[in-house]
Amino acid sequence: MRATRLFDVGDIRTVDVPYPKLESGDIIVRVEAAGICGTDRHLFKGEFPSVPGKTLGHEFSGIVVDAGASDIKVGARVTCDPNTWCGACDQCQAGRVNLCRNNLATGIGRDGGFAEYCAFPAHKAHILPEDLDPLYGAFCEPLACTIHGVDMAQVRAGERVLVIGGGVIGLLAVQLAKAAGGDVALLTRSTDKQKLGASLGADATVGAPEDLKAHWPDGADIVIECAGVPATVAMSPALTRSGGRIVILGVLPQGEQVPLEPFDLLFREIQMHFSFLNPFTHARAAAMIADGTISVSKLITRTISLEDAPDVIANPAPAGEVRAIVVP
Ligand SMILES: [Zn+2]
Ligand SMILES: [Zn+2]
Repeated sequence: MRATRLFDVGDIRTVDVPYPKLESGDIIVRVEAAGICGTDRHLFKGEFPSVPGKTLGHEFSGIVVDAGASDIKVGARVTCDPNTWCGACDQCQAGRVNLCRNNLATGIGRDGGFAEYCAFPAHKAHILPEDLDPLYGAFCEPLACTIHGVDMAQVRAGERVLVIGGGVIGLLAVQLAKAAGGDVALLTRSTDKQKLGASLGADATVGAPEDLKAHWPDGADIVIECAGVPATVAMSPALTRSGGRIVILGVLPQGEQVPLEPFDLLFREIQMHFSFLNPFTHARAAAMIADGTISVSKLITRTISLEDAPDVIANPAPAGEVRAIVVP
């Protein structure tokens, strides 16, 4: 079968590989859809820790073709929660499973979804409806990560929520903050993404921080940074009202530094949080995709083949692109 593997930093290719072996506790799915995420580009560039020779793809769903010893039905559509924690380390024991010392992530530490077939632990599979658009399942993982961030922000009805970044995470955060009762503004330079944000429920869209200041002179109660850009992380405090909170969801390259003024954060008692992965949120994400609470059809910019995947991952996303989905 064909699979897109990261052989080394800067070396990604689609090659013939053996059909996955069914290990104890695993199931095998025929992959229907796998999203290309910023993390895949970070992995390619060596900006995120990787394991050489693994098949990438951590945002995917498909049809079960071998259920192993599990009670999942062959033929069921499932989404994979890629993060498999050990349950035994000190962080797992403290309930912080996303910080597990032994997390084995499907699509990073073990072979993932940029392949015709993928094996992963049965207990990390979440059932999706049979009549769901097969492409939608690829959004469960980014939605699960966004739910964790929005949980951390503790959005309360009527609060002003600024989402920075019009990519997948930003456009999912807009919808979640709306669903929580927030008054939501989206900041993105892209006018296409502003329109998309408005159509997905943003109450206001702005293209620059000055425009946000005009909209909310005191700033937002909550800023959710989803761009993963040093400049937008650095500007977040200035866009937050005193006593407000910031959640960083965007992934910056490892080693990147950002200037912050601790005095300002202290004097105005601004809480700054960092949200990592999807602890206990994948089932909620799958449910929200399944019942259409979260709309993802407009987030699909294009579908591509496994043969095209290396080129797409090795290059920056074209302007205006929200998500490219690999259909093996
Ligand atoms: Zn991702
Ligand atoms: Zn652990």
